[in-house]
Amino acid sequence: MLKIDSYDIVFQEVPNQTTLALNLTCCPHRCPGCHSPHLWADAGEVLTDELLLSIIGKYRSAITCVCFMGGDNDTERVLELAGKVHALGFKTAWYSGNTEPPYPLDSEFWKSGVLDYLKLGPWIAERGTLKAPDTNQRFYTCTSQGWIDTTFLFRKK
Ligand code: SF4
Repeated sequence: MLKIDSYDIVFQEVPNQTTLALNLTCCPHRCPGCHSPHLWADAGEVLTDELLLSIIGKYRSAITCVCFMGGDNDTERVLELAGKVHALGFKTAWYSGNTEPPYPLDSEFWKSGVLDYLKLGPWIAERGTLKAPDTNQRFYTCTSQGWIDTTFLFRKK
């Protein structure tokens, strides 16, 4: 089950997209120095299909992408909802704190087009954000040739 704390329209998290970011709770990672420890709690509203569609409905003319920020407590539900959002014609992204994806990046699973963008990796303060040259985090883009590492897009800014 996914629960949502809040949502925002953001411009930096997914390059070249206007993104509706869904801030999900129940984060299992407990990263030292976490920027949002309130997202650790089992709190917020259950993210049902209906709630997600109603939030998207408010912004559908303004956004090009929907990003799941967290959701590592229920990765299958993230993928299920991402698939539904993708079917509506939006780009889909997932900011996961996991180091590994739920399916290998070369898995046939991804050919279903559930996700367009995937950020992997927990917050490690000394390694920095996606913009930092020594970051542990990776940002992947799904292409017709499969996933490619496009973390470099953040360093050009
Ligand atoms: S994954 Fe993000 S929200 Fe979760 S503990 Fe780490 S920094 Fe905080």
